[in-house]
Amino acid sequence: MSSFLSDVIKNIRRGCELGGFPEEFYELVSKPERIVIVKIPVKLSDGKLKVFEGYRVQHNSALGPYKGGIRFHPELSLDDDIALATIMTLKNSLAGIPYGGAKGGVKVNPKELNVKDLEALCRGYVRALKDVLGEYLDIPAPDVGTTSQMMAWMFDEYSKFVGRNAPAVFTAKPPIIHGNPVREYATGFGCAVISKEAAEKYLGGLEGRRVSIQGFGNTGQWHAYFISKMGAKVVAISDTSGTVYDPEGIDVELAMKVKNTTGKVINYPRGEKISDPQAALYVDADILGPDAIERQITLENVGKVKAKIVVEGANGPTTPEAELKLTERNVIVVPDFLANAGGVVMSYLEWVENLQWYIWDEEETKKKLEDIMRKNFLRTYKKFEELRSTGKVKTMRDAALVLALERIYEAMKVRGWL
Ligand code: NAD
Repeated sequence: MSSFLSDVIKNIRRGCELGGFPEEFYELVSKPERIVIVKIPVKLSDGKLKVFEGYRVQHNSALGPYKGGIRFHPELSLDDDIALATIMTLKNSLAGIPYGGAKGGVKVNPKELNVKDLEALCRGYVRALKDVLGEYLDIPAPDVGTTSQMMAWMFDEYSKFVGRNAPAVFTAKPPIIHGNPVREYATGFGCAVISKEAAEKYLGGLEGRRVSIQGFGNTGQWHAYFISKMGAKVVAISDTSGTVYDPEGIDVELAMKVKNTTGKVINYPRGEKISDPQAALYVDADILGPDAIERQITLENVGKVKAKIVVEGANGPTTPEAELKLTERNVIVVPDFLANAGGVVMSYLEWVENLQWYIWDEEETKKKLEDIMRKNFLRTYKKFEELRSTGKVKTMRDAALVLALERIYEAMKVRGWL
């Protein structure tokens, strides 16, 4: 039966076949190097003791220390964590940053814990896993259900154990304790940089191009904000409350203010209001940012998508079958592990700052992030066009997969693992 993990492994298999890599490499790269499962006892504020289960999956370290977020989610399974850690190995490799891949998590609904209990759980997670974490070993960050505040508690707990300030062990911390202000918008900014590059290659430029954003959360808001600053016209935005469509262009800053104060994009005062949150996928736009959640563009609705470029801000918003349909219509799909890498690239920059006890200012950091994202896109674009012309691949995702696996393969070979 197909699952998130089996889909990810299938991708690795396809990438190995396309790249012509040997079976031993597939064996190494399709399985985690180490999985740690821990029990975390927490004395809750109501006096009861609750034992949580926590994971850290260290998938691959050929290119550098393990790197990946910590997810707090009630339905998290170990298999999901393995799948997410595998994706991190690919994402970090494609991004050209010196990291392997990892992911951690706790099976918990963080919304059901009060602040005190959440802090106790974060500290407990670090206590249980401190021996396998470290600035040159494994560097976690936030993911779904975890925040920069939680990274601050984890950093503090880890520092107590090692008897010194150890900021480089966790990234996306609050700016006051060795974080960087760019992290707040890094993913959406990265999506905008990639959208601009893709528009230059496939649409002759970004200026005046119409953009639609599904999902007006952290990724979608900043994607919309920066792409409009770069000269595009955002014509639609959506969240679970519905879609706002205005062919004349949406005032993104006003929309952000409305969304962040009232919780709903449909309270935006202008434009047409459509109750369907998916309507943003179908409006007349040149570029579409599916920036909400997974599995939004499927075989059922792919025929209604009008955009010429899809930049996947969310993880897994397009199903593989729908992607093939889009490709048949010459729509370019920029895959998630290229498009939304801005967050982890920013984490890398924060880590570099922390290791040196050096602080770059916001503009300098943003410029570095932009340069890395642009280079990543251009490298992938070049590979895609090269492989596409020989008929070897149809999608940019497959070209990105080959490129990511190539770097891991070369690192393993030169280290003597293969
Ligand atoms: P978020 O919770 O801040 O925002 C998600 C938004 O999507 C919310 O506004 C929600 O109302 C909306 N939404 C949910 N279902 C929808 C639907 N069916 N139609 C329209 N809107 C819908 O989350 P986020 O951090 O922006 O993450 C969004 C996606 O980006 C996720 O797939 C996440 O894994 C991915 N991502 C985020 C980051 C990051 O740094 N935030 C990094 C990499 C990948």
